[in-house]
Amino acid sequence: MKRRIVILGATGSVGQSTVDLVERSPERFDVVAVTAATKTGALADIAQRTGARLAVVADERGLPDLQARLAGTACAAAAGPVALIEAAQCDADLVIAAIVGCAGLEPVMAAIRAGRTVALANKEALVTAGALMIDAAASSGATILPVDSEHNAIFQCLAGSRSEDVSRLILTASGGPFRDASLADMRAATAAQAVAHPNWSMGAKISVDSATMMNKGLELIEAHFLFGLPSERIDIIVHPQSVVHSMVEFVDGSVLAQLGSPDMRIPIAYAMAWPERMATPADQLDLAAIGRLDFRAPDFDLFPALRIARDALQQGGAAPVVLNAANEVAVGSFLDGRIGFCEIAELVEQALAASSSAAPTSIADVLALDRFVRAGVETAMTTRCAG
Ligand code: NAD
Ligand code: MG
Repeated sequence: MKRRIVILGATGSVGQSTVDLVERSPERFDVVAVTAATKTGALADIAQRTGARLAVVADERGLPDLQARLAGTACAAAAGPVALIEAAQCDADLVIAAIVGCAGLEPVMAAIRAGRTVALANKEALVTAGALMIDAAASSGATILPVDSEHNAIFQCLAGSRSEDVSRLILTASGGPFRDASLADMRAATAAQAVAHPNWSMGAKISVDSATMMNKGLELIEAHFLFGLPSERIDIIVHPQSVVHSMVEFVDGSVLAQLGSPDMRIPIAYAMAWPERMATPADQLDLAAIGRLDFRAPDFDLFPALRIARDALQQGGAAPVVLNAANEVAVGSFLDGRIGFCEIAELVEQALAASSSAAPTSIADVLALDRFVRAGVETAMTTRCAG
């Protein structure tokens, strides 16, 4: 029986890697629905290549173009937030959640509430609504399979072990393009330099997050919600080669690691074939050619985003929502050339200091707070530019 899959965010970096894996193993998968934000041409192309029956563009203005491109095919076109949620709830065996940002939260929650198995790349959804999402999965019987390479590594290392035997999770971080940079280099960093990741090829937002190391901060919060460990039992270590994707330490002192080439198709394939495994075109790991694996402690002064994210996790409640919303706006503004690289962390810290919100108790609460924080950061940026 083929596994029926929905790909949310099919035109993105993770989405395209998923499509590549589907095309290499057509006997395994039946693509039910694919979605994108705006790129109707790329979405229609993916729909046709995969034989999807439904293509949804989130931006309603794209509907006429999507309909025209899919006219005469067996694929229906739809648009808007309701259609996006319908795609997430389609009768399917697996939903690949590869939308970037809090924009993916409602579709992910819809899939979880429908009891689906969700391969989760969309870390911002978990950061902003982790507790609500884990609770919803427990009531609906949904399974969340982590796609983020570090969390996928931990998930693999945890297989077959009892939670009480785990003492610590160790998240590895490449350190991003500025791991050996000075503060002066970072102050002058351009968007092009920030998105040029040394090891991984990814979307623009996560590439900037890797450069500030906010990505590792978001992943710390992601690990907390996925695996249920407190902040003090989740460590971060810089490992420039990105070969060890993360580790789990057990009470007896054993440490298990998952290794592999830095190719997202490995963790994506793990989630797609789970609990089996499937072949991928990733390069075979050649440790002799790599020669050495380096590790060092992260620099919390040079990368304040790490410290800010850890504080937000420890604070709990609304703080991770504020952290994420402020970061999304700040990263977007940096990519648009409106603010400097170092202002990203400054704006996030300022938003956290200004926030006094109670913990959100519903997805509507999360989204309301998200909108409120975004507006506040916009105002803060306008004031800065004017001042
Ligand atoms: P990307 O920017 O390349 O793609 C994002 C996808 O989401 C696109 O298909 C886009 O059309 C869609 N999208 C964007 N905004 C949307 C909106 N408002 N409504 C509906 N759809 C929208 O991003 P990516 O690099 O593929 O990352 C996707 C997610 O996976 C992110 O949360 C990221 O942190 C996570 N992730 C990515 C990688 C990677 O290697 N790229 C690795 C680990 C985790
Ligand atoms: Mg990661």
